[in-house]
Amino acid sequence: MLATFVPCIASRGGRRRKILVPQYVTTCCNQGPLPHILSSSRASAPPKNFFLNTKLNRPDYRNLPSDYDSLIEVADETYFFLPIWNGCPFVAKERVVFWSPLQLREFVNTSRFSQSELPLVARLCDTDSPLANFVAVDVSRADPPPLSVGEKIIPMRAAISFLSETDATLISHARALLNWHSSTKFCSACGGLTEVIHGATARVCRNSECATRNIYPRVMPSVLVLVIRPETDEILLGRKASWAKDRYSVLAGYAEIFESLEHAVAREVLEETGVIVDETSITYHSSQPWPSLPHASLMAAFCANVYGETNAQIKVDTAELESAKWFKRKWLQEWLDVDGGISIPGRTSVARRLISAWLEQRSMKGSYE
Ligand SMILES: [Zn+2]
Repeated sequence: MLATFVPCIASRGGRRRKILVPQYVTTCCNQGPLPHILSSSRASAPPKNFFLNTKLNRPDYRNLPSDYDSLIEVADETYFFLPIWNGCPFVAKERVVFWSPLQLREFVNTSRFSQSELPLVARLCDTDSPLANFVAVDVSRADPPPLSVGEKIIPMRAAISFLSETDATLISHARALLNWHSSTKFCSACGGLTEVIHGATARVCRNSECATRNIYPRVMPSVLVLVIRPETDEILLGRKASWAKDRYSVLAGYAEIFESLEHAVAREVLEETGVIVDETSITYHSSQPWPSLPHASLMAAFCANVYGETNAQIKVDTAELESAKWFKRKWLQEWLDVDGGISIPGRTSVARRLISAWLEQRSMKGSYE
């Protein structure tokens, strides 16, 4: 059982408003049984950030095969191959499409590409036992995409919005790894060719004299921060010009080289809005992997109080944001996600969890609320 969120209309103070309520639904992959995932109950467990409420885990990669020939030799009915075409998953009946080993063999045998051109990159398995092994396969060079009847290509962001959390996590992980592999075919130190190792979780430079040798995926650390103004019971939200006109969110930005996450929080808030936060109040909330491009991001969410009323004046950096405002709790409770009010990021975002936790006066610490 996995938690998903469905929109409902609720009445608060005589005003009808749209809210998201959790609904626990059974899910499974569309090809073959996944009994451990099916039987995992989350009904009693508090939800974590999206992408983290699954039974997926990473095995010890070191002894995994790293190429098609050796992998297809050991692949049995526990292997599920996940075709990704130009960053997009295959979807049928609102489920991700997986290929069996036989289907993968048929694709390789009938395509005009050699087997070595198929990078096999991700292998995830159930936490309790290595029952289901998911392997991502980049089929981008097939033209047209090798779709079966009833299947279609869906852009990643759109697919995540309706897929189960397990499916969304699998395709996000797969695309992030595939993207890294496709952009790391050459060594950045000597320019030599690289090849996959360790179950395709890393690459190695073929040049035996190269000092770089092993190359690992690059993850971009970023921070999100909910800035709180305790004296007036307000939070600071901003919006970019490219967003929907009523969309606001918490402030965010990437950590720079040799910078702590806490310093990144204080710097980003100051740069984007001119507001100074009390660095002693910066509190870690939770983290969330995010399938951004070109590099996968790891977002760390924080809360922080403004450093006194005199430092709460907003001066927006218009190169970064179109607008930033203080929003009162009472106003947001009335106008969040309703016509004439503002909207915030959706169910998959830790930004929504931060804002919702503050609005409902829940704990602002930790990923388990
Ligand atoms: Zn090299």
